[in-house]
Amino acid sequence: MAKLNDDHLKLAIQKDGRLTEDTRNLLRTVGLHYETYKRQLFSICRNFPLDILYVRDDDIAEYVAEGVVDLGIVGRNLVVESEKPVKELLELNYGQCSLKVAVPAESGITTIEQLAGCNVATSYPVTTTRYFADQHVDANIITISGSVEITPALGVASAIVDLVSTGSSLRLNDLIPIANVLDSQSIVIGNPRSVAHPEKRAIIDRLLTRFQGVITASEYKYVMMNVPHDSLAYITTIMPGLKSPTVLPTADAGWMAVHTAIREDVFWDVIEELKTLGAQGILVSSIEKMFF
Ligand code: ATP
Ligand code: ZN
Repeated sequence: MAKLNDDHLKLAIQKDGRLTEDTRNLLRTVGLHYETYKRQLFSICRNFPLDILYVRDDDIAEYVAEGVVDLGIVGRNLVVESEKPVKELLELNYGQCSLKVAVPAESGITTIEQLAGCNVATSYPVTTTRYFADQHVDANIITISGSVEITPALGVASAIVDLVSTGSSLRLNDLIPIANVLDSQSIVIGNPRSVAHPEKRAIIDRLLTRFQGVITASEYKYVMMNVPHDSLAYITTIMPGLKSPTVLPTADAGWMAVHTAIREDVFWDVIEELKTLGAQGILVSSIEKMFF
């Protein structure tokens, strides 16, 4: 059996769950080569000094804090709940969800102050207790390990604090959110000693730079278009992309070709404006990796 490498960094990721597919895709997209097969506990990268350990997500913050691994990829919700002294190094832009207070729709409860003296069920007792204390509401926090959303129907609790992404699970159980406790997404965390260790830090930074390149690329589209020569000066000012777009002559002297990257969040507004200004032949493509 293969053994972990002493001079490799160790990264813990979720073995099998909501974050697993996106995390594996990220590791592949940044060019890490490693074998995978079912029931495997770890993989050794062939082309980067990194070993990947597959574990339950609940254990990742602890393994990172204890130095069993140098790095972990996990939801911020679990890092906050664990209260472990780890360093948050990078947000990865997937696994977005929020920890919310929710109540039965017909309960008439609209504020958390109305929950004083009530039972609140959650799988996040540490975060929930701190939240209610911060809000000066004296609720009775009950720890439930799974299916928290059915506890109001069972008469166990008046409210729940649970993870919500689309809200469909709340709706299914006739619950409505009344307050936001925490916004979460998948993040990279580091062991404080590993992060402070010069050689390890250098490898960590190489890995984070690669992750950042993929994240930035996912926030932009590459756009190529033909622009009438007369509107070129104005068009280049409305493009909020990179520092300055590439402008090339075309076979027709009245038209120029413009290449640039445009942020996904303003993309449609910019494209509509470009069309009104006479841009034609607009081609849009995804960017795989991007570095400023
Ligand atoms: P494990 O078997 O590793 O313990 P799990 O069942 O505890 O897995 P998952 O349900 O796979 O955990 O969720 C992993 C993470 O996905 C959560 O901690 C959270 O950060 C994120 N997540 C994103 N959307 C949701 C959601 N709607 N509900 C729960 N978690 C979500
Ligand atoms: Zn878990």
